[in-house]
Amino acid sequence: MIIKGIGAAPGIAIGKAFLLERGRIPVPRYKLFGDEAIADECRRFEEAVVQAEAELEAIKKSIKSEFREHARLLEVQQMILRDPSIYDESLHSIEKDRSNAQLALVKSLRKARELFSNLNDEYAKSRIADVNAAGDRVVRILAGQDHSGLENIRERAIIIAHELSPADAIQLEVGRTMGVVTEMGGISSHTTIVARSLNIPAVVGAENAARLIATGDILIVDGATGTIIVNPSENDISFYYERQEELDAYIKEISRHAHLPAETRDACRVSVEANIEVVEEVAAAKDNGAEAIGLYRTEFFFMNRVELPDEEALFRDYRDLAELMAPAHVTIRTLDLGADKLTHWFPRLEETNPALGLRSIRLCLHYKELFKTQLRAILRAGAVANNIRLMLPLISGVAEVLQTKRILRDVQAELTRKRIPFDQNMSFGVMIEVPSAVAIADLLAQEVDFFSIGTNDLIQYTLGIDRSNEHVAYLYEPLHPGVLRFIKQVADAGHQAGIPVSLCGEMAGEPIYVPILLGLKIDSLSMNPVSLPRVKNLIRRFSMKDCCRFVNKVLGMRTAHEVNLAARKMVMSKFPEEFRLFEPNWPVNVDARSRQPAAAKK
Ligand code: PEP
Ligand code: MG
Repeated sequence: MIIKGIGAAPGIAIGKAFLLERGRIPVPRYKLFGDEAIADECRRFEEAVVQAEAELEAIKKSIKSEFREHARLLEVQQMILRDPSIYDESLHSIEKDRSNAQLALVKSLRKARELFSNLNDEYAKSRIADVNAAGDRVVRILAGQDHSGLENIRERAIIIAHELSPADAIQLEVGRTMGVVTEMGGISSHTTIVARSLNIPAVVGAENAARLIATGDILIVDGATGTIIVNPSENDISFYYERQEELDAYIKEISRHAHLPAETRDACRVSVEANIEVVEEVAAAKDNGAEAIGLYRTEFFFMNRVELPDEEALFRDYRDLAELMAPAHVTIRTLDLGADKLTHWFPRLEETNPALGLRSIRLCLHYKELFKTQLRAILRAGAVANNIRLMLPLISGVAEVLQTKRILRDVQAELTRKRIPFDQNMSFGVMIEVPSAVAIADLLAQEVDFFSIGTNDLIQYTLGIDRSNEHVAYLYEPLHPGVLRFIKQVADAGHQAGIPVSLCGEMAGEPIYVPILLGLKIDSLSMNPVSLPRVKNLIRRFSMKDCCRFVNKVLGMRTAHEVNLAARKMVMSKFPEEFRLFEPNWPVNVDARSRQPAAAKK
């Protein structure tokens, strides 16, 4: 049997399945009689929450130091337990409806889940997993059961779950976890991020996997293509063992050269940089040959916290990053919250189209004090090694840049007045992520020191498709001629004004796109640390002359499909091993990301 999902973290796992049972615990339902019974039940509920908090605290302490940042995700669960919509609501239901504690809790959890699921986006979905995991823990305690789960895994296994909360994911032991398969989740969920940083092959969105797979089944999980083979034949097993060995050998080989500069055969240098969400990722970025940090997504520091970070906490975080990377630059993007990246720090807005709503720079300009706090921290940290670059997300017009500059001047004046050292010449750039920014790139270029093209959002807004909506996923085409023309327009406008142009969307880390991005004269590519060795390897084997010639041809093409075929042929001619190892379904699977084939073929 073959199950298809979304390839979330590349690599091949072959081994036994361990089905993480989140079996339903029977919820008794009865009415309480008398004030004393109600008071007892309230106390029982409160004690269960305290015990759940203690359990979460114990897990937090057992987490390895390199995943300290991810421990914050556990704090989110602790926070959920005390959220009035769950904690107060449950107590209220015990007191007013005279419900028993389990029933009261289950009802309040259901309401909370409904709230999140109505939001219908990736980040809200990852919060549902947290609500479920936190609630599940208390329900089990109230039922007098142990919290069964990952701790029951006795041997190396591939974990199968309907959903894996971030709290579960950070408990994964690399030594015991061969792979991960979940029915829910997307390419950018926390679970996926953790699996990638642990280098564990993962497939998410594998419909019915937890129903179709039983503990003990033998599985092959291909984290690149999103394929799961259940109880494979001996032939399948030996085929995938061979692929696994080849893949490991290939990665090992190219990683040996990851520290060499990304220079084409005709001596053109491209800066190859890393995107990170937490400072702890710097080690992986450096190991994989990152020459700088092209994007630090600072909003993650805000997302998983119990308390709103103050200026000192932000300063320490940015200073640590700057020190770790010096003298290489680090590009700190100001808060890009809103749309799919939600926090509880701001009042929840009723937005029909959150992706077009009060998000990102718009949110910062709305909540100026918070914005100023972050800007102060960035400017101060810049004084440590003078290697920080400041970058604004989702700029749609010059007015937003001018408004930010005014705020920045106020912040600088305040720091000067207080004699607090800061970087007075910090490089200042914007992300190009919406079509209007492309159209006025020449005007924006007069105001800033660099551009960084955020293709994840630029593709969504250019093609008019929600990047997290599976129904239109087939239209998410990075090689759409409209997208390519936009990238060229931005690169040309930047270069005409004498500023460098970077690209930091997922496109930058996809080897197939490398010759096109080189030919479009992108100065630096910033990507997930795992992709760095492969991309650097490709850059070193191309010549800029060939890439430019290729791009001229590509710009005359009319469909993404045509461009895709040409790009694959171009890369395949030079690197057949890339295709054989990472896209074995080619040419059946013309676009692995957007058009998942029904079944993998050997
Ligand atoms: C982008 O939109 O391409 C980008 C890099 O930003 P994010 O993925 O964080 O929206
Ligand atoms: Mg973006």
